[in-house]
Amino acid sequence: MATSCSQAPTPPVKPPSYKLTSRVNHPEDSLIPLGSYAIGGPEFIIMAGPCSVEADPQMLGTAWDVKVGGAHIIRGGAFKPRSSPYSFQGLAEEGLKKLAHARELTGLAIVTEVMDSSEVDLVASYADILQVGARNAQNFSLLKRLGLTNKPILLKRGLMNTVEEFLNSAEYILAGGNPHVILCERGIRTFETSTRNTLDLSSILTIKEKSHLPVIVDPSHATGRANYVAPLSKAALAVGADGLMIEVHCDPANALCDGEESLNPGQFQELMLQLKDLAPHFGRRISTLSPPSALLAENA
Ligand code: PEP
Ligand code: MN
Repeated sequence: MATSCSQAPTPPVKPPSYKLTSRVNHPEDSLIPLGSYAIGGPEFIIMAGPCSVEADPQMLGTAWDVKVGGAHIIRGGAFKPRSSPYSFQGLAEEGLKKLAHARELTGLAIVTEVMDSSEVDLVASYADILQVGARNAQNFSLLKRLGLTNKPILLKRGLMNTVEEFLNSAEYILAGGNPHVILCERGIRTFETSTRNTLDLSSILTIKEKSHLPVIVDPSHATGRANYVAPLSKAALAVGADGLMIEVHCDPANALCDGEESLNPGQFQELMLQLKDLAPHFGRRISTLSPPSALLAENA
């Protein structure tokens, strides 16, 4: 006699609630063009820079440091989503101007956060990539507004979002008409308190399986600890991420925000050399590392 187990009907497979983000109708990986690179291709893309844009000469100094280290893109927040209203909130447009100046001098593209729909036009007039922070990952009116822009969007995973919710947030942007979305795993809230968040590296595998969008890892915000950034950056490369976002500050001890998780320039440059060596083992490359003397000549 058949057991009740063998009689159990197979539950129907529920189709995903997102469509444009899904790999089902778009089996090939999406490439996000950015200057001479594409995010999502063989080049392992590095976005690096301070948590916040600060007063001179911090932004320019750090931009040069990450350029020499081989970063493709500089990061820095001008509009900062801080937990406390009394913490440094960012330099707003003045910060965007400093980023633009750093781009002019280094040739690096800019990624910076936009916190509110009313600021999209302003931030988009300076930035090459618009970042949606973890706290805004389900701000659906902001996501809809970003769907109307033609700039690439770096979408961070929400603090408490499942991968399905994360991919649905991306769907809002794609459904609005902007196909250029880069996902970013930056850790999620769990019961574990030994790190600032819990880096969910397995989400990279799930995202790659379910979606064609590129995905990068931010080990800085995921852990809140500078000494965890290098090992987890290598793990992100090994697991198949398309790049990294790393906080770097020219003087981490005096940073106005997130100094404890920021690499100093020497640590960043050392990590980049290691990643460049490791990348070919995982079908990737980092082609931006030139000897410092070549950079000096380029800017002579
Ligand atoms: C940031 O990248 O500046 C930031 C605030 O990160 P998150 O939104 O991931 O906390
Ligand atoms: Mn930060």
